[in-house]
Amino acid sequence: LQLEQLQLNDLVREILELYRGPGRPLEIETGLDPALPAIEADAGRLRQVLHNLLRNAEEAAGEATVKVEIATRCSEETGCRHVELRVVDHGPGIPEEILGQLFEPYVTTKPKGTGLGLAIVKKIVEEHGGVIWAENLTTGGVCFGLRLPVQAENR
Ligand code: ADP
Ligand code: MG
Repeated sequence: LQLEQLQLNDLVREILELYRGPGRPLEIETGLDPALPAIEADAGRLRQVLHNLLRNAEEAAGEATVKVEIATRCSEETGCRHVELRVVDHGPGIPEEILGQLFEPYVTTKPKGTGLGLAIVKKIVEEHGGVIWAENLTTGGVCFGLRLPVQAENR
């Protein structure tokens, strides 16, 4: 990992620009905590994480317009020694049959999918000493949550 002090909010804003705009299926809203502490992390790898999550949301949206909410906050439970990022999309949600293996390599429901996107996301998050989870919402759609330490734990 190429660790540096970075602001996750800035990274999120930067990536979002690429998914917004005419013709894009995602209608993205943000709730970025202005008091979010900087984290020690690899910017390139975290960009990859955000891309993989947003690309999946786009692909799940298909022809429809789907609302996405991206929020950051510091984790009160750990006295703000972690930051949390949530990506909620109000698309179709994760097919029930793969929920249990979602982050395993080669698990895909797409005809030409690689099934590697989320496996890579999980690997990157864990390399930073973080955790990731996903849950389908009862209202439809899915929430991906990830928690990263402010101070990198593994390197
Ligand atoms: P791939 O995109 O190549 O299929 P991923 O690891 O990125 O591989 O995703 C694995 C599977 O998880 C997808 O095929 C899809 O079924 C499901 N998935 C991932 N993200 C979403 C999402 N936002 N909404 C619905 N299903 C999703
Ligand atoms: Mg993918």
